[in-house]
Amino acid sequence: MNPSQQRAWAALGLGPRWLSRGASTHEHDAPAHAMPAPANEPADSCAGPDQPVAAARPPSRSEVLAHDDTPVAAMSWSQLRAAVQDCALCGLCRGRTRTVFGSGAQDSPWMIVGEAPGAEEDARGEPFVGQAGRLLESMLGSLGLSRDRDVFITNVLKCRPPGNRNPEPDEMRQCEPYLHRQIALLQPRGILVMGRFAAQALLRTDATIASLRGRVHAYPVNGGELPMVVTYHPAYLLRNLPDKAKAWADLCLARGRFGAGAARPD
Ligand code: SF4
Repeated sequence: MNPSQQRAWAALGLGPRWLSRGASTHEHDAPAHAMPAPANEPADSCAGPDQPVAAARPPSRSEVLAHDDTPVAAMSWSQLRAAVQDCALCGLCRGRTRTVFGSGAQDSPWMIVGEAPGAEEDARGEPFVGQAGRLLESMLGSLGLSRDRDVFITNVLKCRPPGNRNPEPDEMRQCEPYLHRQIALLQPRGILVMGRFAAQALLRTDATIASLRGRVHAYPVNGGELPMVVTYHPAYLLRNLPDKAKAWADLCLARGRFGAGAARPD
């Protein structure tokens, strides 16, 4: 095992205390759909066979064009930020402390999309803070990526659902044009989607995360397509050790497609 792998395994909590893959307690991931785990090794190194490109169900052209017909589609970064800050399009505006627009450089080569702010994010106005945020930073660091320099992080929902309940479909629908505009403005090399709700919203599906992860999807934007990889949310990984190895494999898949480091190809 090389030092990079050692750091990754440490960040992901893998190693001597490796648990059996059969011990997962995740209710959303039906084992029948899960990708088969490697027999002996807990996590893939980032050197592996090419992964298949998914023929899943990305948003249709008409759905994307519907976003492009809204006033949001013409906004600059500053206009978008202001619009989110003042937004009252759904009932979540009533319970929020702060909107959570996103963080990271506006020319980041990677974009990470989670589900919705939690209590700490709502209080600070930043996505992926606390324990889950630290785990994410460790995972990114193991890939040679800096959260501030290389990754723009946001959520599908910009306001916290009360009591951390699941997002409602209407809330996702109302908020989605903001995310779509962020993607169009950023034009990252690729999008890493973390968590079931975010994956289902972006891919227009009710499929399990286990059936969506482990392959590359295509997200239509700006007349082209961006590669999109789905994986587990860090908050889930903190409670489900066996799936950390799968998340590491997904991150390696993303790095293989998106590249690593800050330098963007012109
Ligand atoms: S969740 Fe999105 S749509 Fe709802 S109020 Fe907040 S910013 Fe607006």
